[in-house]
Amino acid sequence: MNRPCEHPGCGFLARPSRRTCTTHRNSPPPEPGPAFDGDEVDFVVSNRIPAAGLMRPELISVAGQLGARRVPVEEVADLVGASLRTVRRWQARYAQEGEAA
Ligand SMILES: [Zn+2]
Repeated sequence: MNRPCEHPGCGFLARPSRRTCTTHRNSPPPEPGPAFDGDEVDFVVSNRIPAAGLMRPELISVAGQLGARRVPVEEVADLVGASLRTVRRWQARYAQEGEAA
């Protein structure tokens, strides 16, 4: 069973035991970014600690979950290090799209 080519948006299957398709064989796949860490998000949300060092999708999730818990937007903004306006936008997006935001 071949894996998909690791080039973003490629859509072809990788060659057997390789990470890329034939088209991308000479361009190495980009370094995988850090994965979304749901445990870290849960930790920040349940302890309400500053979310320093989290990636943007994680910050959006933190802001969304804190908002769902009726944490004041001012406090959320402090925790995620974003403006009130940004927090409101993230919360709206999270409410609409959830973790996929
Ligand atoms: Zn490819």
